[in-house]
Amino acid sequence: MKLVSGILYLFFATIIFAQKSDITYSFDCLNEDLSGSMISLFGGIESEMLSTFGTSVSIEEEIQVGDQVFEEIKKKYKLSQDQVQMDKLNRIMNKIVSQISNPRGFNYKIYVLDTTELNAFTIGGKIFYTTEMLKFCQSDDEIAAVIGHEIGHNELGNINDQLKRIKSAQGVFGEETGQLIAGAGKIMTISFNQKNEAHCDMFGVDLSISAGYRGCEAAGLWNRMHQKFEGQDSMPRLFMSHPYSSDRESCLKYHISENYSTECK
Ligand SMILES: [Zn+2]
Repeated sequence: MKLVSGILYLFFATIIFAQKSDITYSFDCLNEDLSGSMISLFGGIESEMLSTFGTSVSIEEEIQVGDQVFEEIKKKYKLSQDQVQMDKLNRIMNKIVSQISNPRGFNYKIYVLDTTELNAFTIGGKIFYTTEMLKFCQSDDEIAAVIGHEIGHNELGNINDQLKRIKSAQGVFGEETGQLIAGAGKIMTISFNQKNEAHCDMFGVDLSISAGYRGCEAAGLWNRMHQKFEGQDSMPRLFMSHPYSSDRESCLKYHISENYSTECK
């Protein structure tokens, strides 16, 4: 188990240092104890078990599951056909993708789901944005930060870790894996642990900043989300998942201050 954790650590460390050699990531901003906050897709299968069996998931498998999930998504949602909107999103996404230092090899695609649900999520290099989420974002900088965050889940191996859990439970991926994830609505509600989320926020904002977007806008987005949903149970998963939006705002501000000598308002 130690060996696998070590390898995972090296894997993460390599990505962290490859991204931009002088960027540092601090998780001191997270208040809660990080241990035990991992929520797996299907629960009950602990990372220790994964380590014992050493199940690995290839990027091809990750992409394949993404394709299956996409088929399920298309049955449930209408995809936006607004070409102007799609051109804009693709332009932003391509700028962000071009800043990834050591890409794992995804052919990133972005889709807009026509729904009043406020959400964004990703799997296998496919990024899903909802029309409601687009309305909520007040600038290209905010859109860039969200896209960067979702790319982080792919590049940092968070999705891969979740798929390893499923694969160890099933032995191999059956045809129904995608259906299982999408059909159960799980893909909309995947929760990563708070360290994953904070890491993706920072990773995403680094990509946004190197692509020329304003990083402080991302902190503003979490702030507005916090105001909007404070005290409510209906906060979308993207924001509700640990750490909560107020923590995420302060984590990002700290990250930007430390690495870019910029104090966000
Ligand atoms: Zn996330």
